[in-house]
Amino acid sequence: MHLNLPENNKINIFPIKAFKDNYIWIIQEKNNAVIVDPGEAKPSLNKLKDMNLELVGILITHKHFDHIGGVEELIKNFPKVKIFGPENNEFRFKYEIVKEGDLISILNTTIKFYVIETPGHTLDHLVYVDSNHLFCGDTLFVCGCGRLFEGSYDEMFHSLSKISSLKSNTKIYCAHEYTKENIKFALTIDSKNKELNDRSRKLQNIEITVPSLLKDELETNPFLRAKTSEEFKLIRKKKDEF
Ligand SMILES: [Zn+2]
Repeated sequence: MHLNLPENNKINIFPIKAFKDNYIWIIQEKNNAVIVDPGEAKPSLNKLKDMNLELVGILITHKHFDHIGGVEELIKNFPKVKIFGPENNEFRFKYEIVKEGDLISILNTTIKFYVIETPGHTLDHLVYVDSNHLFCGDTLFVCGCGRLFEGSYDEMFHSLSKISSLKSNTKIYCAHEYTKENIKFALTIDSKNKELNDRSRKLQNIEITVPSLLKDELETNPFLRAKTSEEFKLIRKKKDEF
């Protein structure tokens, strides 16, 4: 893919821990913030307050409750916040529907994101990308990928190949900390992979392993290393039973 992706040079990105192993991402520029997948309002509001930030945007990757559960409470606290997400009749808040190829601009900031559709985990799943950062929800994880609840293996394989073709120094901000289990599984698939073994050692005692680099995923993530949709399907099935 040769995409002309926006450059967000003025942003800082911080994780907010939610539920058991979710990450909500906060993108800060000056005193404004954009939040990705606010499954819970309380930790999001605490972080905004601590950092003294005004919430101006919310990006939603997909419909699952642990990604949208906090939206309504956040709107109550920041009534002007602009929300972007996939089309869904069940969302009970006002938002702008975004689709593949859309370029989103966040009001009062220089923040821009390009939208890529990645059906598989759910059919509505999308990811937000700029020239250096990818917010990928539950499509790709460190050394893993999302479970297929709605899409076909073919669709997910195609979605992951869109991500693989981004710049290899893209930082990957996924929505769960599943890394240790994922690496354990990856080693059963690809035990002789030197980069994977190195990574396993390196990440062993690290609590927050996200963001990762696309380059590292391409070298060690068995789901990105699958060359065909058939191969992907076999690995995904094994992981479901792991
Ligand atoms: Zn999900």
